[in-house]
Amino acid sequence: MKVKQILPFARNLLEAACSPGDIVVDGTLGNGHDTEFLARLVGPNGHVYGFDIQEQAIVNTEDRLIEQGLTSMVTLFQHGHEKVKESIPTHLHGKVTGAIFNLGYLPGGDKSIVTKPLTTISAIDQLLNIMAVEGIIVLVIYHGHPEGVIERDAIIKHVKSIDQKLAYVIQYGFINQNNHPPFIIAIEKRD
Ligand code: SAM
Repeated sequence: MKVKQILPFARNLLEAACSPGDIVVDGTLGNGHDTEFLARLVGPNGHVYGFDIQEQAIVNTEDRLIEQGLTSMVTLFQHGHEKVKESIPTHLHGKVTGAIFNLGYLPGGDKSIVTKPLTTISAIDQLLNIMAVEGIIVLVIYHGHPEGVIERDAIIKHVKSIDQKLAYVIQYGFINQNNHPPFIIAIEKRD
């Protein structure tokens, strides 16, 4: 298979946008896979700010980071990504080069706790405001559950309305697969 699967494609986008020493965001910690990836990407001189509303996600991510020796590169917040701008020190505003949001529910956790359209959209807008030019926000959209459908539609409507002078917005996904496979929306901030 030559075309990229969804998660490798998401990571390629972040690798293109982020370098060692950069400031990046994991908008949905979950089990911490993306946080670990981002921490390795930015290295000891960079920093990852991570958000999740569930204690279980904080614990799972913390455990993973301790195991991998990556804790010093990461700050974890147990509150929603809709507080992203106020959570990142102001001297770093304008310097965020990458962000990822794996939407939906915590795998292996409480499926009733899901990301919501209004808070996700608020986080996207705040991030666009504090990102560096050529910084990329990657949204992995899971629409196989009823609330995911509502979130998908709201996000697509919103990102379609972003001024094309402000950002490039793309969609990537498989359109001939069963069971509502996840797809990507990526937003690159422009000059
Ligand atoms: N990226 C994760 C990983 O690598 O394992 C998977 C994330 S999981 C699909 C989605 C997560 O979003 C859940 O852990 C859930 O608690 C979290 N979440 C829901 N609403 C949120 C919010 N407003 N802010 C931050 N996280 C939220």
